[in-house]
Amino acid sequence: MIEMQDVWKTYPSGAHALQGVSVKINRNEFVYVVGPSGAGKSTFMKLIYREEVPTKGQISVNGFNIGKLKQRKIPYVRRNIGVIFQDYRLLPKLTAYENVAFAMEVIEAPQRLIKRRVMEVLELVGLKAKAGREPSQLSGGEQQRIAIARAIVNNPSVIIADEPTGNLDPETSWGIMQLLDEINFRGTTIVMATHNRDIVNTMRKRVLAIEHGQIVRDQQRGDYGYEF
Ligand code: ADP
Ligand code: ADP
Repeated sequence: MIEMQDVWKTYPSGAHALQGVSVKINRNEFVYVVGPSGAGKSTFMKLIYREEVPTKGQISVNGFNIGKLKQRKIPYVRRNIGVIFQDYRLLPKLTAYENVAFAMEVIEAPQRLIKRRVMEVLELVGLKAKAGREPSQLSGGEQQRIAIARAIVNNPSVIIADEPTGNLDPETSWGIMQLLDEINFRGTTIVMATHNRDIVNTMRKRVLAIEHGQIVRDQQRGDYGYEF
């Protein structure tokens, strides 16, 4: 469902962020992306959700060649991909409910569906009771749960998570991991960049290691494999 063929990305600065990456990620896989800072992990993820376009090579997501996508088709691909960040990126003046509802309003979902679906995903992430709070009134772990609710509300086939536990303490991180595992179990492909050794070594999912813009390891039931 996600396929890269000899993908290169050079930024205008001259940084060679990816250098000849080829990989296939199947429907319903859970993949950890590991590697040192600056290795190209974020670039790899940004290419999947079309935040960046490749300098060379092909990327297909759900059958769309997304490097060559016409501008008007980008929303169709984006709505099928939920994205989660280390810093949550919630809208600060909106309530938890409104942050999640906003993702449905953007794709012009029918109003009558919105309330039911938003409350359903808030329940799934365990925060129905805090629907009326603004992000500043929520803990980091709770904010990340709201971000996850927002990422899944439109039923995407893929979730891209860039260091989703990077700002959280170990116990809270495990709660987030269990939630992502549950979402994966329900049928969503998950690609997650992480520096969290314990999580990778305990969950034993597929591991892609990126160094200097290249995939240097692709391991089923893999481990973190670094000393930092
Ligand atoms: P990682 O996520 O593994 O830390 P990145 O994909 O963020 O790695 O970065 C890979 C390389 O590309 C680094 O050398 C980084 O400085 C560079 N880079 C990343 N984003 C940009 C950008 N927007 N403009 C210029 N260089 C960038
Ligand atoms: P309550 O718990 O007050 O019976 P809900 O469980 O429906 O109501 O919602 C909890 C909170 O979520 C509400 O206090 C409100 O802030 C927010 N909320 C619910 N529905 C909406 C909506 N349609 N628009 C904006 N906020 C809403």
